[in-house]
Amino acid sequence: MKQPATTPSVDMLIVGAGFAGLYMLHKARCMGLDAMVIESAPSVGGTWYHNRYPGARVDIQSLEYSFSFDEALQQEWRWTERYAGQPELLRYANHVADRFGLRDGIRFDTRMRGAQFDEAAGEWVLQSECGETWRTRFLVMASGPLSSPNRPDFPGLGGFDGPVFHTADWPHEPVDFGGQRVAVIGTGSSAVQTIPIIAQQARELTVFQRTAAYAAPARNGPLDPAFEGRVKADYKNFRARNRRMHGGFGNLLPPNPVSALAVSAAEREARFEERWRIGGFAILGAFNDLLTNLQANALLAEFVRGKIRSTVHDPATAALLSPTHTIGCKRLCVDSGYYETFNLPNVRLVDVSTQPIERFDARGLFIGGRHHEFDTLVLATGFDAMTGTMLRLDLRGRGGLRIQDKWQAGPLNYLGLGIAGFPNLFNIAGPGSTSAFTNVIVAIEHHVDWIADCIGHMQAHGKTLIEVDERAEAGWAEHVNAAAKRTVFLSCNSWYLGANIPGKPRMFMPLADGFPRYADHCAEVARKGYEGFVLR
Ligand SMILES: Cc1cc2nc3c(=O)[nH]c(=O)nc-3n(C[C@H](O)[C@H](O)[C@H](O)COP(=O)(O)OP(=O)(O)OC[C@H]3O[C@@H](n4cnc5c(N)ncnc54)[C@H](O)[C@@H]3O)c2cc1C
Repeated sequence: MKQPATTPSVDMLIVGAGFAGLYMLHKARCMGLDAMVIESAPSVGGTWYHNRYPGARVDIQSLEYSFSFDEALQQEWRWTERYAGQPELLRYANHVADRFGLRDGIRFDTRMRGAQFDEAAGEWVLQSECGETWRTRFLVMASGPLSSPNRPDFPGLGGFDGPVFHTADWPHEPVDFGGQRVAVIGTGSSAVQTIPIIAQQARELTVFQRTAAYAAPARNGPLDPAFEGRVKADYKNFRARNRRMHGGFGNLLPPNPVSALAVSAAEREARFEERWRIGGFAILGAFNDLLTNLQANALLAEFVRGKIRSTVHDPATAALLSPTHTIGCKRLCVDSGYYETFNLPNVRLVDVSTQPIERFDARGLFIGGRHHEFDTLVLATGFDAMTGTMLRLDLRGRGGLRIQDKWQAGPLNYLGLGIAGFPNLFNIAGPGSTSAFTNVIVAIEHHVDWIADCIGHMQAHGKTLIEVDERAEAGWAEHVNAAAKRTVFLSCNSWYLGANIPGKPRMFMPLADGFPRYADHCAEVARKGYEGFVLR
């Protein structure tokens, strides 16, 4: 394609057309900025465009996991289920794009290859994979905390004869598992959602498990119109109350403000049972110290193991499915019939914790010298979370500083929003913010609003450049680390720590401080004239 004589230039270039990119584009346009989005996929939706595996659905109720920025939008959109499935979430993303006329600001099928900061011009110069170039004053990375699928490099995998699917890169046409012998590798959130559905279709299903998962029942079902009506009658305040909740959701069922260690065993059991019946993440709020005190945590872990034992008929399978790590340390899975699936005669569980997968051949894989044969493989192996997408880019800040060098020991940043040496670059829902520990749409709206206010402040004060001060960045790394130390989250190997990716530096990436405290902190920084940033 012929290149234009001059490089096109915009005020703001946004990477990604998931919920973050859509709202950022809308907000930027409302401010009168000339903004555009580039998106590698052919359409909007991000997570909900790519993760089309059977059973994909949200694990925070849809009345909460949805945009709050526009009253008409939140009133008119009708969710059919308590926890919307992927097709409905994708329809919602498309509705948002159409309702706010965003499509003409998005370049689809356009993957960012890299961007360099031009110090003389105070601008970013961004390249696509196809060699197109843009200049922009502000670069906003809305490229997703979970958008780079982790594809383990099993020896011989390329020689496997059957189809191989990754849950995060699922085909658009339905996959028919009828009559097939299917293998699923992985037992994290995506696996827990998809295994019960694949098991219904497949002739045989073999699940290869490295670490057992804790899962709480979703209790999903049609959305009760009376409940929807009550929420929508006071939606603005409902949302505001959610923003004061630790995880940005759940204001109708606040955590019980009592220690699990302060009550009798019978009382504890009753509270656990009550929350188990409600379903989803409710169980983590049965007491106020389940995620901060290992002893309290162990009591809940044993309660869930009891549920697994009473659900799964075969004691050996139940034992294998029973996790031994702290509960909630890896993201709690929310399921619909996961443990029950292992009672089906066509489903088999294989432990790969002590004997890992050795290699593949054309018809299956080997573990401990034993061959396991199947026709179709499903990789439910998660993501190179929080940093994977940025680290795949040729992103260079001041003096040519490469993001790979900057983040060699872990993703240094300030407030999760900016990176020293990378002026005028904002990151949405990435490391250093509460992102993965919250209702992510609440986190996204907060970041977009903060970025917009910040740019508004710069305009009002005649500033064109904002840059993180390195001391603020170092202090923030300590802050994120200290917050993690106050919880149980450092007690297991999770993707929060980068532990699922060989060679990835171990640094606790999300901020475990709770959304309200984090949002207050960001507001305070702004109130103090963007303390910790340098504005020029
Ligand atoms: C299966 C699954 C279930 C989830 N469930 C929940 C849930 O229940 N509750 C919750 O709060 N969160 C959940 N999440 C987290 C989810 O990622 C966020 O809620 C939210 O969708 C993130 O939106 P985003 O716009 O920030 O990123 P994404 O939706 O990931 O969008 C990022 C976009 O950037 C594009 N992109 C990336 N790199 C480039 C590049 N180089 N060039 C161009 N485009 C690029 C991608 O194609 C993608 O479209 C879930 C995630 C997954 C994977």
